[in-house]
Amino acid sequence: MKALVYRLSLPRVVLAKLLAHRWPWLVYGPAGAVVYTDWPDPVPPGEDWAVVAPRLAGLCGSDIGVIAAHTSPSASPFSSFPAVLGHEVVGVIAQGGARVPWPAGTRVVVDPSISCTMRGLPPCPQCQRGFPYLCQRCTDGTLSPGFLVGFCRDLPGGWAQRMLAHASQLHPVPDGMSDERAVLVEPLAIAVHGVLRRPPAAGARILVIGAGTIGLSTVAALRLLGYDAHVTVAARHGMQARLARELGASRVVSPADLGRAAAEAGARAFRPLIGRAVYRGGFDLVYDCVGTRRSLDDALRLAREGGTVVLLGAAGEIPKIDWTFVWMRELEVVGAVGYGLERVGGRTVHTFDLVLEALAAHPELPVERMVTHRFPLHRYREALQAALDRRASGAIKIVFTPNEGGAPTVSTPRDG
Ligand SMILES: [Zn+2]
Ligand SMILES: [Zn+2]
Repeated sequence: MKALVYRLSLPRVVLAKLLAHRWPWLVYGPAGAVVYTDWPDPVPPGEDWAVVAPRLAGLCGSDIGVIAAHTSPSASPFSSFPAVLGHEVVGVIAQGGARVPWPAGTRVVVDPSISCTMRGLPPCPQCQRGFPYLCQRCTDGTLSPGFLVGFCRDLPGGWAQRMLAHASQLHPVPDGMSDERAVLVEPLAIAVHGVLRRPPAAGARILVIGAGTIGLSTVAALRLLGYDAHVTVAARHGMQARLARELGASRVVSPADLGRAAAEAGARAFRPLIGRAVYRGGFDLVYDCVGTRRSLDDALRLAREGGTVVLLGAAGEIPKIDWTFVWMRELEVVGAVGYGLERVGGRTVHTFDLVLEALAAHPELPVERMVTHRFPLHRYREALQAALDRRASGAIKIVFTPNEGGAPTVSTPRDG
């Protein structure tokens, strides 16, 4: 089958780290780490495995992080390469083993977490709790290291014509839901899980920093879960701002206007001896959906005393963060990644199923407009280029169409 494969090489990582900001073609050009190539057709290792034919497979910030070598080396022991990337997938079961409860032809989204069960091991405490994303044995058992499909040598991800999935990873998609909505279940589940880590109080003043896929998904998650909150969004580009409003933001500001937005949330600004303004008061809850020095600094600066900062932006190695805000204002800084069995509203439900239900119940929320760019696999260089320069491309969510040829298509939130 045809696939997009990431090849790890230390010299290439060093080169990309040093020079890719000046010469992005080092990442997407012929010298880059991704190739379009033949890959062995996946063979199900047991009766509870299925072969899935991806219909749409998203390009995630973490994929770009690995390809462009932005990712912290601290994650490297928990992946194995070369691997077929792609962990945001809607597809169709092409072939299922006897213990797969759904027939061939069923449309599914795939939870990419790799559990102890899939490794042929008894469940570790995190898998037992329903959060294989945090699996403590993600380097052991019958599979190569990796906690996520797409970053594990033995389980090709969605950037290919076929992928493998364990029955426990499959979540059927309701009829009538578009592929564009379904492919966003994974990022929406990250946002829903992030929100459920510290559910906002009624009437909370919330700041979402960033309006890429995760920021917009966080705005949508607050609405999908029915929270009554005042949500301010910091968006960089015009179409991100438009989409943030459509998905339920109460107010959208540019990152440069965050000080004014904080004043509206009741914060008083003070001038320190040197440096940026500091505040008394501020937002009850801040989601950092960017993960840069500036966004984390804004988040810590703008959360009120006793407030909460949720890290959804996959921040890596960031120098010169002023931790004074955390202790001086007794902030709670909460990490969030992945999804699993949520305890919500008196029941236990997988985040993916919660998102699928909520999307079906809220057809008016136009999350599918986040999908701005579609590329066939062999046009991957254009896809990576669009992802590396979102200002020029206007890309929010870029998806591959692994089983279709054809030309790339681009839409903007103005369309439709
Ligand atoms: Zn991702
Ligand atoms: Zn485990």
